[in-house]
Amino acid sequence: MSLVVVGSMAFDAIETPFGKSDKIVGGAGTYIAWCATNFTPVKQISVVGGDFPQDELDALTARGVSLEGVQIKKDEKTFFWSGRYHMDMNTRDTLETQLNVLGDFNPVVPESYQDCEYLMLGNLAPAVQSSVITQLKKRPKLIVMDTMNFWMEIAMDDLKKTISMVDVLMVNDSEARQLSGDFSLVRAAATIMKMGPKFLIIKKGEHGALLFHDNKVFFAPALPLEDVFDPTGAGDTFAGGFIGHIARTGDISFENMKTAIIVGSAMASYCVEKFGTERLRSIDKSDISGRLDEFVQLVNFDINLV
Ligand code: AMP
Repeated sequence: MSLVVVGSMAFDAIETPFGKSDKIVGGAGTYIAWCATNFTPVKQISVVGGDFPQDELDALTARGVSLEGVQIKKDEKTFFWSGRYHMDMNTRDTLETQLNVLGDFNPVVPESYQDCEYLMLGNLAPAVQSSVITQLKKRPKLIVMDTMNFWMEIAMDDLKKTISMVDVLMVNDSEARQLSGDFSLVRAAATIMKMGPKFLIIKKGEHGALLFHDNKVFFAPALPLEDVFDPTGAGDTFAGGFIGHIARTGDISFENMKTAIIVGSAMASYCVEKFGTERLRSIDKSDISGRLDEFVQLVNFDINLV
């Protein structure tokens, strides 16, 4: 069993109503890797510039992330993203996206990654995501894809092509509406699943996540938290928990995906407690099982209908 993760590795600058970060390390691939390694080793595919800190790469290696598929372009700059959150901490505006090394990224899948059984396509240009799929000689058992509105705006044709190649698509509620052209999330889900993926996850921030498959739907709440410090990377961390659980258990059934979205939600609830990847780096297996217990308590009730 091997998990390959594709996604941006970045510098982020984040503003919330309660604080502002300097330029910190982020990126979809970074969050997914920090999270998924709680469950299984990761083989990473990404690109960074010469300005990306070596100690961050070393920390990932120590964590169980293979960086053979991460290109380092010494004379170029790492991808940069900045965003500002609204008062609700659920919605945000992108202030700036500098693609830098991501602009002409050609991923190369190393030979040692060809045993990939689970492929997590984190947020990146859809043409890059599909190039990884086509470079794999054997189709993985499960391909999961995340994306964002940015790619809907500038690369819709590529995006639809990549979506048609995957098993599970993850988007947030506004992206599901944008992609389907339908305000109803139930109808949007039906429209999106016709584009290819058999499973669709719609993330709703502090309002949890929905998992759709055929005519079935399952809901996972988000843990109500006293303070949300920085929601950046929550979606990627959710993805890392989801695919990490699936890869660890080797079970790609709808039933197991229900558990996987609870695991994703539990991991995301840690991510938002501090800026950047800081909180994720500090948790261990007992923290994770403690939080999973809180989820069980949150949704467990008895009912007698007679
Ligand atoms: P999330 O909060 O889970 O949606 O993910 C936030 C992360 O996505 C940040 O760390 C950014 O560096 C990264 N990101 C933002 N825009 C893009 C983009 N267009 N392509 C790839 N990664 C991005």
